[in-house]
Amino acid sequence: TKWVYSFSAERAEGRGEMKNLLGGKGANLHEMAHLGLPVPPGFTISTELCTYFYANGKTYPSDLAEQVDAAVAEVGRQTGHVFGDPGNPLLLSVRSGARASMPGMMDTVLNLGLNDTSVLTLAKTSGDERFAYDSYRRFIQMYSNVVLDVDSHNFEDILEHYKDGKGYSLDTDLKADDWRKVIVEYKAKVEEATGKPFPQEPKDQLWGAIGAVFSSWMNARAITYRRLNNIPADWGTAVNVQAMVFGNMGETSATGVAFTRNPSTGENALYGEFLVNAQGEDVVAGIRTPQNITEVARKAAGSDKPSLETIMPEVFHQFVATTQLLEKHYKDLQDMEFTVERGKLWMLQTRNGKRTAKAALKVAVDMANEGVLSREDAIMRVEPSALNQLLHPMLDPKAKPAPIATGLPASPGAASGEIVFSADDAEAASKAGRKTILVRVETSPEDIHGMHAAEGILTTRGGMTSHAAVVARGMGKPCVSGAGTIRIDYAKGTMTAGGVTLKKGDIITIDGAAGQVMAGAVPMIKPELTGEFGTLMTWADEVRRMKVRANAETPTDARTARSFGAEGIGLCRTEHMFFEGDRIVAMREMILAETEEGRRAALAKLLPMQRQDFAELFEIMSGLPVTIRLLDPPLHEFLPKTAAEMEEVSKGMGVPVDKLRARAAELHEFNPMLGFRGIRLAVAYPEIAEMQARAIFLGAVDAGKKTGSPVTPEIMLPVIFGKQEFDLVKPIIVAAAEAVAKETGVTVPYHVGTMIELPRAALRAGEIAESAEFFSFGTNDLTQTTLGISRDDAGSFLGLYTAKNLLPTDPFVSIDTVGVGELIKIAVERGKATRPDIKLGVCGEHGGDPASIAFCEDARLDYVSCSPFRIPIARLAAAQAAL
Ligand code: ADP
Ligand code: MG
Ligand code: MG
Repeated sequence: TKWVYSFSAERAEGRGEMKNLLGGKGANLHEMAHLGLPVPPGFTISTELCTYFYANGKTYPSDLAEQVDAAVAEVGRQTGHVFGDPGNPLLLSVRSGARASMPGMMDTVLNLGLNDTSVLTLAKTSGDERFAYDSYRRFIQMYSNVVLDVDSHNFEDILEHYKDGKGYSLDTDLKADDWRKVIVEYKAKVEEATGKPFPQEPKDQLWGAIGAVFSSWMNARAITYRRLNNIPADWGTAVNVQAMVFGNMGETSATGVAFTRNPSTGENALYGEFLVNAQGEDVVAGIRTPQNITEVARKAAGSDKPSLETIMPEVFHQFVATTQLLEKHYKDLQDMEFTVERGKLWMLQTRNGKRTAKAALKVAVDMANEGVLSREDAIMRVEPSALNQLLHPMLDPKAKPAPIATGLPASPGAASGEIVFSADDAEAASKAGRKTILVRVETSPEDIHGMHAAEGILTTRGGMTSHAAVVARGMGKPCVSGAGTIRIDYAKGTMTAGGVTLKKGDIITIDGAAGQVMAGAVPMIKPELTGEFGTLMTWADEVRRMKVRANAETPTDARTARSFGAEGIGLCRTEHMFFEGDRIVAMREMILAETEEGRRAALAKLLPMQRQDFAELFEIMSGLPVTIRLLDPPLHEFLPKTAAEMEEVSKGMGVPVDKLRARAAELHEFNPMLGFRGIRLAVAYPEIAEMQARAIFLGAVDAGKKTGSPVTPEIMLPVIFGKQEFDLVKPIIVAAAEAVAKETGVTVPYHVGTMIELPRAALRAGEIAESAEFFSFGTNDLTQTTLGISRDDAGSFLGLYTAKNLLPTDPFVSIDTVGVGELIKIAVERGKATRPDIKLGVCGEHGGDPASIAFCEDARLDYVSCSPFRIPIARLAAAQAAL
């Protein structure tokens, strides 16, 4: 079997498409080599070997060693070195690489092959002793940490102690002799911790590193990550072994990372950072503040450190050309890692770069306009749920706030909150319902929970590619990083900037788009939904088939929905209208009345209010369909709950508290979700449906007069399980329509349809469609009743179900396509057989979930309806589903 695939400028055995076999990093290394780019030669051990390894009790196939030996020899031939020859050592990096980039896997080991004798050769041939020992100490630390399980802090402690003793502050202060002494201590530490000397034999080092990569596939961190991200365990990881190139060989060497476009804004300008005389992760680790790659970026950042463009113009121009070639080739924004060894550029990695939603939109639209992508491709490029980020507030430009400090614009959006200096404090405040800004010198993976809890993140150190910046962008949270003029005193709980000292709990505002920090709360505005956002939405609207409506009942929600492009209201829940202000009093009066007359008297008070509500809604949605659901929840939900409330209602209504309590007790239900609710209320109290229908038609007449365009209400009956219930209630609505027409002289066109939210209704859809003009699938209740899981009680066990793979996802988030979905498909088929032009939609949370929207397209529904803020997401998802 072929396990090993070589790549070099001469020949690459793999290609970019072979991610399954070679992993993401490996496939792209082969592709870059194939394109003729300067990639250090190396080879990839395939993911199939990982599969073999675990299928065979963690052993290797007998033909692996010779393939690895041959590939190593080939790398040696190309570089002119010999692996294991202390007089002419070949040094290697060993890098893991799964199909999808996966934190939790083994970290890269650099400088492998060094030992006590080859380091002398390296010092001699490079003419730089300091460099040789610097490389060796890095190797001992990395290898011991990731392969031998000796924690890094052991080495950091030794180094700090050594520096203190010598009065050094920077690592670069150490000379060759210093490193030699530190290395002696490092090796002693390893021997103490492992009981064995640090491995000197390069071959042992190599196999140790390879084994560590494959073993890391099953470590706890990797398993958790895979579970959270739905990555199957049988994918396996690949191992990349590659000749070392050195960014730490003095002032003409460097290492860096870059994006072909700005990953925060999407601006079409090369964006990146580098460090002179550095290796590996130094840039990301925030050890020194990195330098900009281009002059433009340097000036924009106001940095006094020279750019790559200035100090290495030739390398810079070659690099720019390379990045452009890569972007054209992959037709996407690239995130690249590179190293310069004594003036020669080497490419070490490329991949499609992570980006903010704002950048994703701009890049997709720009690339379509540049002719690199088709409009359809551009639509497919943007993750619909990422649009959420764009609905973030921004600082009101009229506010003109005075910043107390400026850092890097690491992740867009603005946020205000109390200052907290630790992740735990952010979490505690968030649990107490308070908003915070997490302020740290820098962040690390231990701070993730606090970053989740905070509204925004502010750091005083680190660049655009620092931990804080990368994580915040992923979370869609505002972040300002590297605001270096701020001094944090963790012990005192204060931060000082621009002459102002603020303490924990004081309010600050950050603007992640401008990189600014302000004291106090600054007024904010909703984002403009124009520009690239508007363009992509227009393109999406051109290709989608399904309409997108909103679940809305208040004027504010309806207006928001319309501004986000809603094409009508798919669900107006009338019960919410009864909770407002003193309406609840009339509502309670109605519920507590013991006779029809009593109920009618109370309903008469509610009628004008409902009429006004509907008129307003129809006016806002003028020209668009509005679906109104008649009263749905169990009546007892409207009753006073606390003793004080009871007392208040009793006084206001002149009804004794005892009587009130007795009626409330009567209305008590053991399982209200399956109780006296929905159409059952209209069956028992037809006058409620009558009042609501009158209010709808009168409201339609009012709005029609005001706007001049007729309104066509769609009235929807909830929780039916058969045609008979529908046929009992529909005449009430018809009668109300006729009465209103007679009274006002205006005939309002209307439709009467039903929710399909019980399995029996789905099964009897053929019959129901004889009477109902439309179906709206109430997927929340349909999920509850199909799975027999109460959404309100699911929290205690649903997590377990998804963890144990009993359900692929939370069925209240993404439609259970094989169960609930099957019922929907049956109802669609049977409904259409009876009434071919029946209108079909989905309301409920699923209407805003991209995966569920794809299902709705598949089921050939006419529209989805979702909450106002998810409308743009639904528009894009519906377009993607149609493509
Ligand atoms: P990660 O997946 O964490 O990014 P990489 O395998 O890309 O890990 O390695 C991290 C860094 O190590 C690279 O960005 C690069 O700076 C350095 N590196 C890896 N391989 C080599 C090499 N052959 N020569 C020089 N530096 C390397
Ligand atoms: Mg990398
Ligand atoms: Mg329902």
